[in-house]
Amino acid sequence: FLTMAIESSCDETSVALLLEGREVLSNVISSQIKVHQVFGGVVPEIASRHHLENINNVTTQALMEAGVTLDDVDLIGVTYGPGLVGALLIGLASAKAYAFAKNIPLVGVHHIQGHISANYIQYPDLEPPFMALVVSGGHTNIVEVENYNSFKVLGGTRDDAAGEAFDKVARVLGLGYPGGPLIDKISKEGDAEAIPFKRVFLEKGSYDFSFSGIKTGVLNYINSEKQAGREVNIANVAASFQQAVLDVIVTKAVDAAIKMKKDKIVLAGGVAANSRLREMLTEKCGENGIKLYCPAPILCTDNAAMIGCAAYYKYKAGFCSDLTLDAYPNLPLTDI
Ligand code: ATP
Ligand code: MG
Ligand code: FE
Repeated sequence: FLTMAIESSCDETSVALLLEGREVLSNVISSQIKVHQVFGGVVPEIASRHHLENINNVTTQALMEAGVTLDDVDLIGVTYGPGLVGALLIGLASAKAYAFAKNIPLVGVHHIQGHISANYIQYPDLEPPFMALVVSGGHTNIVEVENYNSFKVLGGTRDDAAGEAFDKVARVLGLGYPGGPLIDKISKEGDAEAIPFKRVFLEKGSYDFSFSGIKTGVLNYINSEKQAGREVNIANVAASFQQAVLDVIVTKAVDAAIKMKKDKIVLAGGVAANSRLREMLTEKCGENGIKLYCPAPILCTDNAAMIGCAAYYKYKAGFCSDLTLDAYPNLPLTDI
């Protein structure tokens, strides 16, 4: 059973082919990072234009690398939200055109269900139930995954997402874009205990997050150091910021797993590529008898293989979209 999947929700144009939903035959990712770097962030209009320019070539390449043709495809999966509306529409139009022309069933996928599904590709034997920690550019969620298609969101961010906080602080530190990987790298040379940035845990028992305060904390720290005529040690600031954010994320994720009696934690989203996060979770999960799952970095950031895997399990459970499928820029996580 061959699935072709298309992802275009942000600044990666990606097309993948998968066998039985989990075996990746090809996963072509065309990233626009270089195009948006000069602006310090993704410019939606430019992103749409590049998706339009890239989508056909990326599709052709994905089919070629997989050694198949469109006639072999049994299912088309596509991200229909959340994301940039113009960007989503390019992937959707393309997916619908193939589905119509070749009379292939179509399944719309929630981008975050895709991120979680990256783990099924990385770990062929992994099955729900488990606790998922979603940390990406636009999301920070603790999600109880009951089975392939039913999810319970235990908590989320009340302001900035984890990746957003990394990107904004990296900009303040003059590190560049996207900031997550750069903070990850420079933090290895810094002292994570140098600056005691506040850990925001919110109300007792809450699985929600708030990261906008720490961004201001970093700004205030830098300004006060400069005013005092002291030189700012960027590596120390980055490492201390990263540690403060990760302390909260790791504590809440492990607490949730223990409370809900889950013996597995599954990492998902771009920030899941963070090396310190992986280190901390490995240690804390080990102490608590929890098994940790984290996809290879290339499966953590946006890619179509993860969307194809999610589409496969939706289809198997009887979900199917039709050609009226539309883009939902704010598709809530509860609507998976
Ligand atoms: P969403 O998935 O919520 O719609 P998105 O698709 O834009 O948002 P992803 O592609 O999942 O986000 O992840 C991108 C984010 O991951 C960026 O904020 C980036 O800085 C962050 N990121 C990538 N690598 C790392 C890393 N090693 N450490 C920390 N953050 C990272
Ligand atoms: Mg991206
Ligand atoms: Fe994403």
